[in-house]
Amino acid sequence: TGPLSVTEFASKVGKSTADILKFFFNQGLMMNQNMMLSEEQMGELALEFGFDFKKEESLTKENIFEQLQVADKPEDLVDRAPIVTIMGHVDHGKTTLLDSMRNADVAASEAGGITQAIGAYQVVHSSGKKITFIDTPGHEAFTEMRSRGANATDIVILIVAADDGVMPQTEEAIDHAKMAEVPIIVFVNKCDKPGADPEKVKVELMNYGLVAEEYGGDIPFILGSAKEKQGLEELQETILFISEIKDYRANPNKFASGVVLEAHLDKSRGPVASILVQSGTLEMRDMVVAGGAFGAIKNMENENHKKVLKAEPSRPVVIFGLNSVPNAGDKFIVMNDEKMARQIAEAQIDKKRAAEQQSKQAFTLDQIKNHI
Ligand code: GDP
Ligand code: MG
Repeated sequence: TGPLSVTEFASKVGKSTADILKFFFNQGLMMNQNMMLSEEQMGELALEFGFDFKKEESLTKENIFEQLQVADKPEDLVDRAPIVTIMGHVDHGKTTLLDSMRNADVAASEAGGITQAIGAYQVVHSSGKKITFIDTPGHEAFTEMRSRGANATDIVILIVAADDGVMPQTEEAIDHAKMAEVPIIVFVNKCDKPGADPEKVKVELMNYGLVAEEYGGDIPFILGSAKEKQGLEELQETILFISEIKDYRANPNKFASGVVLEAHLDKSRGPVASILVQSGTLEMRDMVVAGGAFGAIKNMENENHKKVLKAEPSRPVVIFGLNSVPNAGDKFIVMNDEKMARQIAEAQIDKKRAAEQQSKQAFTLDQIKNHI
């Protein structure tokens, strides 16, 4: 089958025609449902909606339509690690909690104690099961990522310091977690401190609709101390219990897609991106498009800076080889055609530029109004 019209494409990928038309409209492109999609537009849609490409053959202009793998068959799906985001008020212990679980010490090395980047780590529980943790730099970043369609969280851990109680950013975190419609686990931290009042935290959180099991609700509350490593086992078991019920799965047997968690330019190593694979398997030399950046993966490392050759679903990795620095929250896909990858990346840059231009114009109009 050759090129597809908007309507044909929409039905193939299980989207509405309106979704597709809206995507182009937002780029200032008026399409109608009978128009034929170019390969480049198909690639852009794949990036936007996170469709993956099959791995078997090489991608060509002729077969891109068949190569696009939209719906996974149930038999293709295998268990994946739950992806857990830790949220809470500043200094309530997010980074310390992560450090304790992976026996590292990021909190102490952070400038000013404020998390600089989204760190993502995989922890192996004593049962051998894995859990992926994401330490957000801020709640806005979390929701911003979600608003861009990158749902990179299965479970939220709301951390509240027992000596401080519910604070403004705790409230924010609750709002963001509720909007995400994911299970919430409350970790009442710093229970080791004199003056800690975990029961007060439980009562306070009832006002926000987070009711502990002993009060007739269904929110797991775990009392512990990130610093003294108390409650960590119970926390991990609770995560794995939820994970078993929810049965998180993904198809590892296709090109990878996922989301950029953090990226920066390293003086000696060039663009470095910390990414989360959500579907498929990422491998060395794969051709990645991430927002406006593209390139073949030259090197891949895990959270301990150890070289890895593959990254399966739910695995966070650091990748090297992109031609520029993508933005946090950008989605990525893998396709084995460099020319197409370049075209799609360039289209993303144009899109961003157009959006910036538009907001600049809006600003100028405002300024004009203010001067009248
Ligand atoms: P974040 O801003 O939420 O990432 O908080 P951090 O993990 O950076 O912790 C803020 C401060 O609280 C640091 O000085 C930690 O050592 C301290 N802290 C974190 N967890 C605990 C705990 O369980 N008990 C005590 N006593 N201090 C803690
Ligand atoms: Mg932190």
